Amino acid sequence: MIRQKNYQFFKNQIILIIGLSLLPGIVLVILAWMHNMVMGALIWYVLLLATSAWGLSLYYRYDKIIDSDVLTRWYTEIKAYFYLNFSLWTVLFLMYAGEVESKLHYIVIFTQLGTSVVASALLVTDRKIFVPVLLVILLPLSGYFFMIDTWYGYVLSLFTIVFLGILFYASNNTYKLIQKNDYQAKHDMLTKLYNRRYFLSYLETVILRLEKSKKVAYLLLIDLDHFKTINDSLGHDIGDKVLQSVARRIEKFAEETHVIARFGGDEFTLLSLEHNSNEYSIEDSYEVAEMLLEILKKPYRIGKHRLYLTASIGIKEITGVSMDANQFIKEADIAMYEAKHIGRDGVILFSDTLSQRVQLEHDTEQKLYFAVQDKDIELYYQPLFNEKKVMIGCEVLVRWKSGEGYIAPDVFIPIAEKTGLIVGLGYFILEESFQTLKEWHIKGMLIQHFSVNISVKQLLDNTFADRVEILCDTYLSQNVREKVFFEVTESVLAEDVGKIISTMNKIKALGIRFSMDDFGTGYSSLSHLREIPIDELKIDKSFVTHLMESNMDQTMVPAILSIAKLFKLTVVAEGVENKKQFDYLVSQGCNIFQGYYFNKALSKRDFLSSYTT
Ligand code: C2E
Ligand code: CA
Repeated sequence: MIRQKNYQFFKNQIILIIGLSLLPGIVLVILAWMHNMVMGALIWYVLLLATSAWGLSLYYRYDKIIDSDVLTRWYTEIKAYFYLNFSLWTVLFLMYAGEVESKLHYIVIFTQLGTSVVASALLVTDRKIFVPVLLVILLPLSGYFFMIDTWYGYVLSLFTIVFLGILFYASNNTYKLIQKNDYQAKHDMLTKLYNRRYFLSYLETVILRLEKSKKVAYLLLIDLDHFKTINDSLGHDIGDKVLQSVARRIEKFAEETHVIARFGGDEFTLLSLEHNSNEYSIEDSYEVAEMLLEILKKPYRIGKHRLYLTASIGIKEITGVSMDANQFIKEADIAMYEAKHIGRDGVILFSDTLSQRVQLEHDTEQKLYFAVQDKDIELYYQPLFNEKKVMIGCEVLVRWKSGEGYIAPDVFIPIAEKTGLIVGLGYFILEESFQTLKEWHIKGMLIQHFSVNISVKQLLDNTFADRVEILCDTYLSQNVREKVFFEVTESVLAEDVGKIISTMNKIKALGIRFSMDDFGTGYSSLSHLREIPIDELKIDKSFVTHLMESNMDQTMVPAILSIAKLFKLTVVAEGVENKKQFDYLVSQGCNIFQGYYFNKALSKRDFLSSYTT
């Protein structure tokens, strides 16, 4: 890791030290002149002036430094400047310590003591500087007292050593305190990695360097997948230990080649070394990220627990582009979220295409927000039929009438799900559709089966079951509720299944049933089907579409039907577009049919006029 010294602090001391050298220095020159021994003092003062000019140049050079090698050289130089400046005071002391008659020896003894106090106070942030400087100042003074060769000379010599000891002790304590504060300001206390604030400031300096050097570096943003589950189920102590183990693994893997920080929560960042662009390709960063994923995936043994974790990583390249650290982090973050979105446990590199897509999604999200408010969301109803081709119900399908025409739900529902807007939109759809069902029921329409699509994000909303109950109480009597089916997709099985099942059971207690939508395309396994409380399967339209062409799909449909039989579930076939498909599905024992063979989704008015007798 890169150790940062308190360079800025030293820079600030330079002016003070120059002032505290030149002003008393000139007084001493005057005193020497008054006692006819000015020559030595003058030469000494010229040397002090030259040293101060060097100090001043170091002061001005500091702000222009962006390269870490140059900064290291600057630090070496400033050390030399301090040694030289304080040694000059010892030279002055040695020059005039013998001037007993003129009493100048009192003056230089005092200045030597004063200088030692100045040095210990102003150079305290670096032990490598104040220790030698104090020795150079006080050891000659102690030697001088010793050489007086009288009892008070020995006592003064001893007192000087004690004084030196006290200065060491005090400076050292302050030094340790400063180091501790400095460490705490830059590090995350849990993992001992750098913290967000320090990482950002470090990244700023790297960006400035890269702008000049035309080299490249890359940024990895790592976010652990489902870490919250560990915290929630096993407690924060275990969560903290997991974070520490993760930090140690990242450190072991990348300490030599990256600056590593914990960005907060379960998020970590790595900044690579700076590379010449011809020695480096983005594939390298990809490889590093993939290796890191593998390392993080190995089981964690925390107390009696054996835990498994995955992570999602976003990569952002840093080239000579003028952007601030936060923008680079934001782009790495976009890539990381994309990795999460496409199934977690993966690596995504930030690109302009990704950025444009995110922007588009963002715009759609904004518009969708107002669409819900302005009631530009309309519900359409696609009829469902039994094997005798009698209309028995419908599926509610949402439409968005935007300024640019109708936007398909396939486009905006995933965005609404990603951004959380689906929860509010979902309630709107539920309320509207329950109202419709109530109206149709009052009109005497024979609706036996009324399906509404429900997103997994809605099921994960803690208030969902309660709000559905309120809507049921407001609009639907008990016998009408029993017509309602909530269609969920197999994606529910990828989430917190326990929570989802409990919400589903609460809703089932109201009389509403569940249907597994797009069956056969997702994650379902037979054991899952037994676990989750569904009453119906919907054969995905992709199987129906290719029914007559593909042997594979011909075997899928009977397989799904026999699974349904096994679990006593009704089956709806969606996407039925022609008679051949319909006849085949009837022959296989399918119960309910939906598709363009009968009708597409209709507006409320069209549905009413088409299906009221
Ligand atoms: P889905 O639930 O699988 O809905 C069936 C989709 O297939 C509908 O498209 C419907 O118009 C279309 N479809 C019906 N019959 C046929 C056919 O014979 N051939 C073909 N090619 N397509 C047919 P739509 O309305 O564009 O909806 C697309 C998806 O958007 C739905 O797929 C559903 O996942 C989602 N969606 C629609 N409305 C809602 C809603 O209110 N809430 C939620 N969460 N999702 C919805
Ligand atoms: Ca559906």
